[in-house]
Amino acid sequence: MTANNPTPQSLHWMTDMLDSVEVGLIVLDREFRVQLWNGFMENHSGITASNIHNRVLFDVFPEIPKAWLTRKADAVTLLNTRAFTSWEQRPYLFRFRNTRPITGTEDYMFQNLTISPLSNSSGEVEKLCLMVYDVTDIATHKRALERANAQLSRLSMTDRLTGLLNRATWENLVDAEFERFRRYNQNTSLVMFDIDAFKSVNDRYGHLAGDEVLKHIAKTVKGLLRQSDSLGRYGGEEFGIILPETDIEGARIICERIREAIENSEVKTSAGPIHYTISTGIAQLTHAPKNHMKWMQQADDALYAAKSSGRNRIVVYQG
Ligand code: GH3
Ligand code: MG
Ligand code: MG
Repeated sequence: MTANNPTPQSLHWMTDMLDSVEVGLIVLDREFRVQLWNGFMENHSGITASNIHNRVLFDVFPEIPKAWLTRKADAVTLLNTRAFTSWEQRPYLFRFRNTRPITGTEDYMFQNLTISPLSNSSGEVEKLCLMVYDVTDIATHKRALERANAQLSRLSMTDRLTGLLNRATWENLVDAEFERFRRYNQNTSLVMFDIDAFKSVNDRYGHLAGDEVLKHIAKTVKGLLRQSDSLGRYGGEEFGIILPETDIEGARIICERIREAIENSEVKTSAGPIHYTISTGIAQLTHAPKNHMKWMQQADDALYAAKSSGRNRIVVYQG
């Protein structure tokens, strides 16, 4: 632009351009009175330039954070330098409705804001120019991406059917607990349990009813544990629990409560009510196992003993 020596003709063009550019342009004097208000601002606010001329911005838009904008403006004036605010710090300055037909998922227009100092011929900052950029598209995409990522990481840690920690995640926690024990020697117990004769549940009621039983067990056991206990789905109908700060007697009490709750419950399915039981193995951690897998092996050995001695019971691993 030949802004240095504007002719009346080029001024006319420039005014036209300022009015049609897809950026909000506002010029404010030191008292925040509006000196310029371009077409973008007119269209989105519904307020014409002649209506807002010389009015104090905060009087027309009471939702604008006055203290914040004043502080920003003071810094721009004092330092004679631009300031920039992204939608991630403050979603918008002007609460304009989001009019995009495609990205209509957000209610308001997201805005980036630049505040530039405008100096007079002697170099003093006399006015400020606010530039308002509509970044709704970018913000919408970024937010959708963040939501998808959060969901993905949740999904990759948990089991889809039961919502419990999946095997990999749960095993990592067992490993972490094993390492914690080596350093702090606190009591800690590991539980493995498995549904009895689950194959015949599937055979008799169908796989979908079997799935209902798996969901039921997850909910029931979760309801009986503390926040600090970690319950995971280890395999098809095998589950594990890490019980921190719990010795073998404490673990036995918790497991007995679970065993009993399951024995006494009924799963209502479309194929009919289902009763079932579980077998449980417990191993309190000692310094004997060399790694967390050996510790899990101990709990699994105890579970095997519970199965072979008649099922619907709890066996404690004896070193
Ligand atoms: P036991 O008392 O010895 O544990 O007998 P069981 O029948 O429970 O043991 P087995 O390991 O032979 O059978 C496990 C069954 O669990 C077989 C498999 O079809 C079923 N199963 C594994 N995952 C799922 C699942 O996600 N949904 C359903 N419905 N069934 C599953
Ligand atoms: Mg089983
Ligand atoms: Mg099994």
